[in-house]
Amino acid sequence: MSKRFEQLLVPRPEGLYCPPGDFFIDPVRPVDRALITHGHADHARAGHHHVLATTQTLDIMAIRYGAEHAGQTQAAALGEDITIGDVALRFHPAGHVLGSAQIAVTWKGMKIVASGDYKPRPDPTCAPFEPVACDVFITEATFGLPVFRHPDAAAEVQRLLASVRRNPDRAHLIGAYSLGKAQRVIRLLRDGGYQAPIFIHGALKKLCDYYQQQGIDLGDLQPATVARGGKGDFAGAVVLGPPSAFGEPWVRRFPEPLISFASGWMQIRQRARQRGVELPLVISDHADWDELTATINTVAPEEVWVTHGREEALVRWCALNGRRARPLHMVGYEDENE
Ligand SMILES: [Zn+2]
Repeated sequence: MSKRFEQLLVPRPEGLYCPPGDFFIDPVRPVDRALITHGHADHARAGHHHVLATTQTLDIMAIRYGAEHAGQTQAAALGEDITIGDVALRFHPAGHVLGSAQIAVTWKGMKIVASGDYKPRPDPTCAPFEPVACDVFITEATFGLPVFRHPDAAAEVQRLLASVRRNPDRAHLIGAYSLGKAQRVIRLLRDGGYQAPIFIHGALKKLCDYYQQQGIDLGDLQPATVARGGKGDFAGAVVLGPPSAFGEPWVRRFPEPLISFASGWMQIRQRARQRGVELPLVISDHADWDELTATINTVAPEEVWVTHGREEALVRWCALNGRRARPLHMVGYEDENE
């Protein structure tokens, strides 16, 4: 393994550290200077002295943690050249959620791209993933096993719409991560022809409002509160809530709730059963196995560093395909609810 590249980025307990720039990427503990790839809680944490991220990621952090989440913030436009000391930086779209970016770090002729979480397939709620040529590509491996092949998301939503038509007396309750997944499922429902109001749990409201402000049309969203009317108001309705709400009495407010969950993990039937999910929807904001390997082939880096998930299988695939690769073994990045 080349030690040369570790002069530029090196895994530390706090996160990936850049010695010549004295900054961390997606640190899991408060640090002096943090570069953040996207707003998910395992990547974006409150309490850094200085944060550099895209405007949308900074906005999302402010929505989730309050305006005082960092001492200072600096916005990075996609494609803009930024320098910290003699390290050159550029943010490129990652296609994961609104505002998500890969961070390219260049110094002394070496270029490393930290992709954060990414997905190459089209998503109408964020800018498309852009492969960036580099010496070292740091890839996630959330779904880094050959068994993970995500189906077409639009087809998954058509299964949901068919169930809604078949069950006009039941409320469809869909668990979806509050940043990214919820808005994508809503947008997919609209693109699939569903124009009725969609009801959302209060925990989703601020981020849905923000997506709408950013030009992502989610249609008519209404609060999923039963206080004013009766249960019958939600017969045949589509209701979205964060995964955490499904352990609460909230669910029992609805008539004959049909529990659905939108996640890449729904491909594992046992997980769906454990959660009591009647209608699993395999919709993921991460690259699946084919997309991980295709992306590595497209980027064609000298080395691949693998993190966030099933590192060993992807490292092995790289070795079998003549690519140098290593697992980073960093802890604190678990996208269980993705
Ligand atoms: Zn993420």
